[in-house]
Amino acid sequence: MKTRSKLIAGIVIVFGVILVILFQGTHHSKTNKQVGEQKKVRQTNKNSLPGGAKPSDWQLILVNKQHSHTSEISFNKATVDGVQLDKRIEKPLANFRDGAQKAGYTTTLVSGYRSIQYQTQVYNNSLTQNEANGMNENDAKNLTQSVIQTPGSSEHQTGLAVDLAGKDALAKYPALMAQMDEFESQKWLIKHAPDYGFILRYLASPIARSQTGIDYESWHFRYVGKANAKYITKHHLTLEAYIDELQKADKN
Ligand SMILES: [Zn+2]
Repeated sequence: MKTRSKLIAGIVIVFGVILVILFQGTHHSKTNKQVGEQKKVRQTNKNSLPGGAKPSDWQLILVNKQHSHTSEISFNKATVDGVQLDKRIEKPLANFRDGAQKAGYTTTLVSGYRSIQYQTQVYNNSLTQNEANGMNENDAKNLTQSVIQTPGSSEHQTGLAVDLAGKDALAKYPALMAQMDEFESQKWLIKHAPDYGFILRYLASPIARSQTGIDYESWHFRYVGKANAKYITKHHLTLEAYIDELQKADKN
């Protein structure tokens, strides 16, 4: 009897120890996992954003229908191929185009800085033209606004946006069309823009469209700086969504 009860007691103790070890093991690994997940969430929320990036940085200026600038933005200008732009993007743009050239693609700089005054002229000309074609005031306005930004809400007034096209793509679509991205030259520009600090500003997805208010443009590139451009492209963001993320991180 004595031996038997000793044996039972021994078994109970061993079993108990095993249970304790098992329980601690699962408990321990769960805790580690939870901590890991919390860390991960924190990192994507804050730590993975490019260090030091602030919504107020000059290269992150936001101009769209909701953020219109009704007075001219002042900055030093440079002229490249007869096109004006912010002097600070002269070098990055030259590097971008050199890169394309080295890959075998000649590019044409179609447009850069446009003053609000010039944008007003273009806008009014289009409106007059539509009305001359027999449209009523409302239809004329709708058609104009579908293709031309209302003065004050065009990103071109920042001097940080360029319409840049592969020479062959532009030859087929001189009025700039989304289908320009059928060309290898345009594909190269879109793919490599972030390496030079640029983003393709108006993406094709419905979400992007709802955030920017502008249809897909395979030719409109915007300078935001390399770290920002890489982050924005990697996470398929619009500039609007990115600035939103930065503002949220700023408040945390
Ligand atoms: Zn443009």
